[in-house]
Amino acid sequence: MSGLYSSIYTSLCQLKAAVRGDRQFSIYKTLAKEQFLSPEKLEQIRIKRFQKLAFRAIDKSKYYSQRLSDQRQFIEKIESLEQLSQLPLLTRDDLQQNYKNILCPIDNTVYADSSGGSTGKPVNFYHDRDYQMFASGLHLLFMSWIGISYGDRTGVFWGADRDFKESSLREKFDAKVDRIMALNSFNVDEQSLDSFLHRLERFNPTYIYGYASSLALAAERINQLKLTGIRPIAVRSSAEMLYDSQRAVIEQAFGTKVYNFYGSREVNNLAAECSAHEGMHVMASGRIIEIVDDRGQPLPAGVQGNLAVTDLTNLSFPFIRYLTGDMGTLQSEPCSCGISYPLLANLAGRSSDIINFNGVHIHGEYFTHLFYSQPLVKQFQVVQEDADLLVIKIVARSEQFDTEPIVKQIVEKVGQGVRIEVKFVERIEPLKSGKFRFTINNYSGQRKAQS
Ligand SMILES: [Zn+2]
Repeated sequence: MSGLYSSIYTSLCQLKAAVRGDRQFSIYKTLAKEQFLSPEKLEQIRIKRFQKLAFRAIDKSKYYSQRLSDQRQFIEKIESLEQLSQLPLLTRDDLQQNYKNILCPIDNTVYADSSGGSTGKPVNFYHDRDYQMFASGLHLLFMSWIGISYGDRTGVFWGADRDFKESSLREKFDAKVDRIMALNSFNVDEQSLDSFLHRLERFNPTYIYGYASSLALAAERINQLKLTGIRPIAVRSSAEMLYDSQRAVIEQAFGTKVYNFYGSREVNNLAAECSAHEGMHVMASGRIIEIVDDRGQPLPAGVQGNLAVTDLTNLSFPFIRYLTGDMGTLQSEPCSCGISYPLLANLAGRSSDIINFNGVHIHGEYFTHLFYSQPLVKQFQVVQEDADLLVIKIVARSEQFDTEPIVKQIVEKVGQGVRIEVKFVERIEPLKSGKFRFTINNYSGQRKAQS
């Protein structure tokens, strides 16, 4: 978009937002300043936001009034966010059992939502208007990091997401006005994908985003077709783990950098890469991320552990020290880009994604590397079904695909005692949320349920 048109367009969008009472642009302006404050000043702001959230939770939420009422004085005196480690964590089980008592709406703008999870029961929760506006503000901030302006032509490769199926007329209108071309790209047949890619080439998007697996699938096809006309400034990968092998294929197809973006349905906009690509900046103005071990004890920078997330913006449904189920590391070194939001690294996805035989953990990356070098494999999924059983589902481009060399390699990795079953299938369905997982450990779920 030309500079003049872009600035006129942005002004119009800001006007539209102001008329609707939306505050994302004003929030963005505040965040754009906060990101460059010194870490000490930023921490003071976050402590104040945390106290506001916690006091409201104690006063208005039945669940937290029981859980945190004897911590009021402690919270009043907090001088460092490290002290949060003395407060109780919120587990997925806690959320499942208590969500009605957690809710404390500030007004009538709360929206119910739920998250499927991989094996367990879904969790229910609520978001309010402030949460949504703050999330949009954080997203505008991220766009400023990667050189994208509001209203730039956007191409979307999404999973089979319910958000797309149920988009309202107003959302469809907004998509048109906001110049978005989207494809629900999972399980789409090759002909539809090709036709979308050719239309996208003519549309010439400045910005592309999508699920990691959907982007990678499209990217593989672009490389096969040798399409060189889709040249966005930046590509955002979100919703799923982004493996190095996927990053490489996506960057090749679009001729630009991929920016990894981390969020969850419960709390979106948690962390994102900037142009320095030294890790993912925790969106610190609105979120706190701590790393804890399995007993809930804080872990030092550089040590991998469980993510505990606090959302400073959703006062109607406080998430305080919520264990997302994902694992990662916090870095002690600041990013060279000058933004003082701390860096999250080694995001490793859910522990239930990791294949484990006799204590040997095999990360999903191992399998993506193995299968991405196979041109005859269209899709695959590796599922650990038992202590000694690994099922490999493959959607092959040709019946001539010989699995023996791959199985041999996997046997070397997992050990001789493991049975490996290969199943050729027509398609592999994503999860209900639309996310796709390359590796699933059903056995670890059973083991947890039994214990
Ligand atoms: Zn940075």
